[in-house]
Amino acid sequence: MTTPDVLAHVTDLLPDGRRNLRFVVIGAGVSGILAVIRLRERGFEDVTVYEKADRLGGTWRENRYPGVACDVPSVLYSYSFAPNPEWSHRFSSGAEIQAYLEKVAADFDVERSILYGEEVVRAVHDGHRWHLRTHTGRTDEADVVIAATGVFHHPFVPGLDGLDDFAGQVLHTAKWDKSQPLTGKRVGIVGTGSSAVQTVGAIVDEVSALILFQRTAQWILPQDNPAYTDEEKAVFRSDPAVQIRLHSEVSELFAEGFANAVVDADSPALTKIAQMCEENLLTVTDPDLRARLTPDHRAACKRLIVAEDFYGAIQRPNASLVSEAIERIEAGGVRTVDRALHDLDVLVLATGFQVDRFLRPMEVVGPTGVKLSETWAERPIAYLSMTVPGLPNLFMVNGPNGPVGNFSLIEVAELQMEYSLQLVDSIAAGEFRLVTPSVEATETHEKARVQAAGKTVWATGCDSWYLDDRGVPMAWPWSFHEFQRRMAAPDLSAYVLTN
Ligand SMILES: Cc1cc2nc3c(=O)[nH]c(=O)nc-3n(C[C@H](O)[C@H](O)[C@H](O)COP(=O)(O)OP(=O)(O)OC[C@H]3O[C@@H](n4cnc5c(N)ncnc54)[C@H](O)[C@@H]3O)c2cc1C
Repeated sequence: MTTPDVLAHVTDLLPDGRRNLRFVVIGAGVSGILAVIRLRERGFEDVTVYEKADRLGGTWRENRYPGVACDVPSVLYSYSFAPNPEWSHRFSSGAEIQAYLEKVAADFDVERSILYGEEVVRAVHDGHRWHLRTHTGRTDEADVVIAATGVFHHPFVPGLDGLDDFAGQVLHTAKWDKSQPLTGKRVGIVGTGSSAVQTVGAIVDEVSALILFQRTAQWILPQDNPAYTDEEKAVFRSDPAVQIRLHSEVSELFAEGFANAVVDADSPALTKIAQMCEENLLTVTDPDLRARLTPDHRAACKRLIVAEDFYGAIQRPNASLVSEAIERIEAGGVRTVDRALHDLDVLVLATGFQVDRFLRPMEVVGPTGVKLSETWAERPIAYLSMTVPGLPNLFMVNGPNGPVGNFSLIEVAELQMEYSLQLVDSIAAGEFRLVTPSVEATETHEKARVQAAGKTVWATGCDSWYLDDRGVPMAWPWSFHEFQRRMAAPDLSAYVLTN
């Protein structure tokens, strides 16, 4: 398109007189699917989603390790507008969530907007529109870009000496190869986060030997995960309002009992959580094992793990916990610093993600030459986790320093989307053409965020993926209610609005 064509397109009108904007959504996970549904609801049909993989689902498409599950209750880890009466359990497996997302996408006819196998590698704004390019060379333009590229998307592979020398199979939990059965094999798991704990519980009865290599012991909150009965499902099917009501009740319970607790290190709710974790640990009968499983930090300082029967699994006769540090990987297994060699057929890296990537490695350049790679050279910062100075009409969902941890990120994405859509509505109404957060508002927000982060439980002296290179938690440090309040309506004085 030539420049005049582009401008002509921008001034196209919808039947109701609003500007007919063109949208590109990057990523077809929970957030990208949501973006398409919400945009269409508002009458915006000119939407293309670019998804680098060959299926939608994001996290739940990628993480297929045994035991993968959500630790937020199913009724809350669902779109508020798409209750699912078929959830089998109070907490859902990853496969069930993937099936749910596929069903929602089918019900709302989302697939027709998605182009698979297209990774957006470059987005440049020329002062009028975004110009995008994918790795296949496809180009596109958009008035508004919604970046739904995820937080837990780039697996973290630790720099273990000798990893390439291992003669057996190496698996990362985020890149699981289901074609390789583990039955009867000697399996080592590196890591003690949620993915490791879920994998241990799921495979211990199948493998001949399971060794968990622990660098840091973790607190584990016990989880009761009953199946929904046929009667309950029948009620959910016949009256969707029941699940919608449960969604808001559980949301409130979660906000009060958990989300608000972790941002106040002295809260009574956090004390209660700590007690529950301590009582759970007492189910480990061997004093030596219990001592090695006892964390040296406060409960919820690292992302709290919620698991049904981890302690039962690690006490099985074929399971063992190795708490000596790993020295190197050898052809036959893992050598620890005490010189012991732990023979293995399979090595599982349950080592999580690079959680500071967001849009990157995409090259993003604003109209005045602002480059995301430079703006974020030290660390990613965004106004209210959603927008970046100098990059107009670019809205992130689940962007940097937002509510992460034991929340429903679906709920977070819905709130962020509603906020961004209010700005989009103003663009469509012709109130302004471009919107970017001001540098001042972004810096003020970030300063307040860093200050408040110091009072959270994440800053009470443990090392975790919440912390940036300065040791500051990369998360929303205020209550969930405060997040809901801030998401209710944009404060236009925080933005630079251009016509
Ligand atoms: C094991 C595990 C357990 C979890 N448990 C919970 C939980 O209990 N509760 C909770 O709230 N959250 C949980 N999460 C977080 C989970 O990531 C979010 O809940 C949610 O799925 C994020 O959805 P998203 O669409 O924002 O991002 P993602 O699901 O990461 O989707 C991003 C999509 O963007 C695509 N993409 C990225 N870059 C590009 C590009 N440049 N071009 C094209 N496509 C691109 C990716 O391929 C992907 O499909 C868990 C995550 C993991 C890994």
